[in-house]
Amino acid sequence: MTGMGRGSGYRADLNENPFAPLSSVLVNVQQAAATLNRYPDGRCASLLGPLAEQLDVPEDHLVIGAGSTAILQQLLLAKARNGVVMYSRPSDRYAALSRIVNARAIEVPLRGADQDLGALLEAITDETALVFLGNPCDPTGTAVQRSELDAFLRQVPENVLVVIDEEYREFVRDPGVPDGIELCREWSNVAVVRSFSKAYGLAGLRIGFGVAQPPIAESIRAAALPLSVTAMAEAAALASLGEREEILERSGSLIRERDRLRRGLRSQGWEIPASEANFVWLPLTGEADEFSKECAAHGVFVRGYSGQGVRITVGEPEANDLVLFVASWFGPA
Ligand SMILES: *Cc1c(COP(=O)(O)O)cnc(C)c1O
Repeated sequence: MTGMGRGSGYRADLNENPFAPLSSVLVNVQQAAATLNRYPDGRCASLLGPLAEQLDVPEDHLVIGAGSTAILQQLLLAKARNGVVMYSRPSDRYAALSRIVNARAIEVPLRGADQDLGALLEAITDETALVFLGNPCDPTGTAVQRSELDAFLRQVPENVLVVIDEEYREFVRDPGVPDGIELCREWSNVAVVRSFSKAYGLAGLRIGFGVAQPPIAESIRAAALPLSVTAMAEAAALASLGEREEILERSGSLIRERDRLRRGLRSQGWEIPASEANFVWLPLTGEADEFSKECAAHGVFVRGYSGQGVRITVGEPEANDLVLFVASWFGPA
């Protein structure tokens, strides 16, 4: 692992991968850099085929973009400009992206640490254009089960687009959590968004993708900023597909650390929801800011949500130990 990140402290605030890039990935990026006087390929043709094959989807169902953030923005531009969008609170990202397309955001509170699918359904009106579901959910890490999601999709009107955000998919181990790409085959109003930023560790290069049936996929493509995926990002993603074993092994070790961190916190008396992502959530109504400050003072930056809780990215074992130490004398809420 790369040890400390930017500044002086461990970065447990952005859900980044703590492992340094694989050398085979760096070699490919270097090769691509040799032609950076040239424009990238707007279709990402060299990645499209292999990625479609690995995901077992037809190429016309797949759209590659400059990070999952770009795909989310493209979905909003295509389907929700000046419209109404819905998601669970808190989500700074969906809020910021919704503002860009002048959409009105309906924020539905979580039920405990879970997304409240019943309340989301109830809040849908004729005006609703798009609903974001995180599976797992950022910032709590909880995931929606297959039966619950099936029931939800059966009740959502077909003119409402359901965007399943699966950025953290590679960290899911609960077999009851559905694969969004399977749901895309079944539902024409479902789009799935995934990323190379998290498990694949390419956050700095900006590459992710969306999967949906052709009419939606085409509208995501049409809303892209042309040529925004660089040849280096494409080369890194392609090389990473070839290193899937190694990537999954790294994810496995982060999952073991996640479960160790959660067990440690629970043994101190904290109520930590089960996480299917690379972070854990500490519910802390009154003292979220205080806890974040203490962590920073001990050399770990975590993500505080004022009045709600703290999201801690699972990183280096030493960073996780520091969090356990701060939590032990801070004491459960
Ligand atoms: C995952 C994540 C993103 C978006 O993912 P990309 O695929 O890199 O666009 C953005 N911000 C934060 C804090 C995240 O954790």
